Amino acid sequence: MSTAVPRLIITQDNKFWFDAARDGRLEIQRCSDCDTLRHPPAPACPACRSFSWNTVESTRRGTLHSWTVVHHPKDPAFDYPLAVGLIDLEEGIRLVADIAGVDHDDLELGMELEVGFAEHAHGDVLPQLRRPAAEQGSAE
Ligand SMILES: [Zn+2]
Repeated sequence: MSTAVPRLIITQDNKFWFDAARDGRLEIQRCSDCDTLRHPPAPACPACRSFSWNTVESTRRGTLHSWTVVHHPKDPAFDYPLAVGLIDLEEGIRLVADIAGVDHDDLELGMELEVGFAEHAHGDVLPQLRRPAAEQGSAE
């Protein structure tokens, strides 16, 4: 893999999230004061401005809210065409991630997907949208 692949920018606000991803868990930040869920990770609650938070573990299941297939401009660090989707998670949080293992012509609004994880350059682990495991099993 190319060394031109950009590195993740880990901060004290998002480190918990990338650490969980490395362990195969999708964590959602939750305000300790008003229970509002938020993503991406941020230091303060957008609803009540509290700095107190904890996390809940996502089921990683959801539906495809939108997607795009990127053809251009091409960055030599990535493979094209590159499908990128927005998933509406069961918890009510929306997440953006690459889509893998789904023919681009088969993508449909509202289709069920789940969040898996894939290792990239530099050992970085990022979420990846896939067909639910049950469907993958029946297709093989
Ligand atoms: Zn809050």
